[in-house]
Amino acid sequence: MKNIKDYTIEELKQEMIQIGEKPFRAEQIYSWLYKEKVKDFNEMTNLSLELREKLKENYNICNFKIIKKQESKDGTKKYLFDVLDSNAIETVLMSYHHGYSLCVSSQIGCKMGCKFCASTGINFIRNLSSGEIVEQLIAVEQDENIKISNIVFMGIGEPLDNYENVIKAIRIINNPKGLNIGARHISISTSGLVPKIDKLANENIPCTLSISLHATTNEKRSSMMPINNTYPIEELINSCKEYIKKTNRRISFEYALAKDSNDNLEDAKRLAKLLKGMLCHVNLIPINPIEKGIYTKSTNENIIKFRDYLNEKGIVATIRRELGSDIDAACGQLRRKNLDRRKKCC
Ligand code: SAH
Repeated sequence: MKNIKDYTIEELKQEMIQIGEKPFRAEQIYSWLYKEKVKDFNEMTNLSLELREKLKENYNICNFKIIKKQESKDGTKKYLFDVLDSNAIETVLMSYHHGYSLCVSSQIGCKMGCKFCASTGINFIRNLSSGEIVEQLIAVEQDENIKISNIVFMGIGEPLDNYENVIKAIRIINNPKGLNIGARHISISTSGLVPKIDKLANENIPCTLSISLHATTNEKRSSMMPINNTYPIEELINSCKEYIKKTNRRISFEYALAKDSNDNLEDAKRLAKLLKGMLCHVNLIPINPIEKGIYTKSTNENIIKFRDYLNEKGIVATIRRELGSDIDAACGQLRRKNLDRRKKCC
């Protein structure tokens, strides 16, 4: 059965026409789904009984179940959601002085194989549909009775490897009749799928693009991120330059600092050279060690030196505050969890 949350408003209007209804019904349904956040077609009381029955016959409303919710000392909350097909995903809610930010997953598992990331090493299962991406927001907003102001695609998965569904989810989230979160409050993070970055530049969606760079030589980057063998640093940086030219948007480069690996002054020098003159910002992340991982956190001293060097060279760099590491909710700590396995051990 089709998930009613998988449609942009234009697509839902077409769906209504196909089932013999007036297109404006789509707007009413949108309001019920995204403003009232109802979980059942029966609650859509301004629709006729007949239409509600028709909707029930043709669609379901995807309502995730919370399997587990953990709260960090710093207020960060991690959700494990049952996505209703024996799989589970993680979503993280962070609270900042400027509002709530939600870190959403885009796939069940990930194909990228980055050596430092906990989402690696577990099989890729499938893409999340746009409705499943959107549902993470709805479920958290409802559970906490809050309004989320920012979304980051930094959970499990490579968002640009699930391009169509991620773009569609953004359009649903964006729509004033939907969740009404402006594109400027949405960040997409990518390991560097060059053709998709080029495509995104033409979408006319003013979201923030984050590039997981993490290294300044192809040798090092390929050893950390296999995707670099396909799209090496020069191609990636060129594509970023094009993106900036086309969109006039600042790119955020993510750089996770690992001790004795990519955190010395030579790396900082190469990074400054690479990004010279670009409209960008560097986000330095103290790498989070993962189970059986080979990377350990840089020292505070090295992290500060690295930042100061970049700033001296005129490249805006900040150190990302770590949130939720005590509940494995920090960057790179999210995993796909299989419900079947969970059932066995309960
Ligand atoms: N696939 C996307 C989004 C998911 S990862 C991407 O690669 O960008 C979100 C961010 O966390 C990325 O910048 C990623 O490189 C970073 N990250 C992954 N593992 C990490 C770890 N162990 N420590 C710190 N950051 C990590």
